Amino acid sequence: MPVDADGFPVTRSPAGVVRSAASVRDLAVLDARISGCRACPRLVAWREEVARVKRASFRDEEYWGRPVPGLGPADARIAVVGLAPAAHGGNRTGRVFTGDRSGDWIFAALWRAGLANQPTSTHIGDGLELTGVRVAASVRCAPPDNAPTPQERNTCNPWLARELALLPDLRVVVVLGGFGWTALWPVLAAAGYRPPRPRPKFGHGIEVALAGLHGPLTLLGSYHVSQQNTFTGRLTEPMLDAVLSRATELAGFPPPP
Ligand code: SF4
Repeated sequence: MPVDADGFPVTRSPAGVVRSAASVRDLAVLDARISGCRACPRLVAWREEVARVKRASFRDEEYWGRPVPGLGPADARIAVVGLAPAAHGGNRTGRVFTGDRSGDWIFAALWRAGLANQPTSTHIGDGLELTGVRVAASVRCAPPDNAPTPQERNTCNPWLARELALLPDLRVVVVLGGFGWTALWPVLAAAGYRPPRPRPKFGHGIEVALAGLHGPLTLLGSYHVSQQNTFTGRLTEPMLDAVLSRATELAGFPPPP
C-alpha cells in the first residue's frame, strides 16, 4: 500500500476500505490503516480544515487532523462504541474521546467501573491505560455538525467490523446513542455475528443477546455522552455507571473495590 508523509498506509475509496480492513490481522496495523484513510472527501476536507484553522484556545497545539483509531487492549471483553470524533477533541489529540467534555464523562465512568487506571484523558502520553475495554467510534473522522452522512457511515463501517472481529474475548458492546445503535447492525453482521430481526429499537439500558463469532455477545444501549445529554440531565453519572456495571458483570469482571 502507498504510505503518506507520516508513514501511514493510504486508503482512498470505499472499496479500498473494504479490502484494506479485510486483510488486517492485528490491531496495531488496523490503527495505522485507519489513521491514513482518505476515503470520504467531505470528511477529509473538514478534519484537515479544522486542524489548520484551530480553535483559538488550542492555537499552539498541533492538531492530529486524521481519522481517530480505537483505544484499548486486544484482550478486551467490552467494547464501547461512540459516534465520531469531535473536531477539537479526538481530531485535535489523536485519541478517541480525548480532549473534550464527552471524553471527560466516558473515561471518568470507565475509571469508576475499574476499566481505566485514571479518570482523566487529556492527551496521548498522559498515562491513561484501559483494562478489558476497547473504545472506538462508528465513524473515525470528525464530521461537520457532528453529523456524518449515511454514506460516510457505511464507508467507515468495515474498519469497526474488523476491529470487533480482532477482539477474540469480546463479550459486551456498549453502544452510545441511537446513531451508533443503527450503525452497528451491519457492522456486527460483517464481523460474523447474527443480528436479530426485526432489529431491537435503541433505548438507554436496552440489552440484546446475540450469538457470535467467538461466543455470545450482549449489546447494551446507553444515551450518548454528548453535552446535549449530560448538560440537560438526560444522561446522569448514575445512569452511565449502571450500564457499565452491567457490562462488567456480563464480561465476568469483578466489581470495582
Ligand atoms: S470516515 Fe472512515 S472511511 Fe471515511 S475517511 Fe474517515 S476513516 Fe476513512
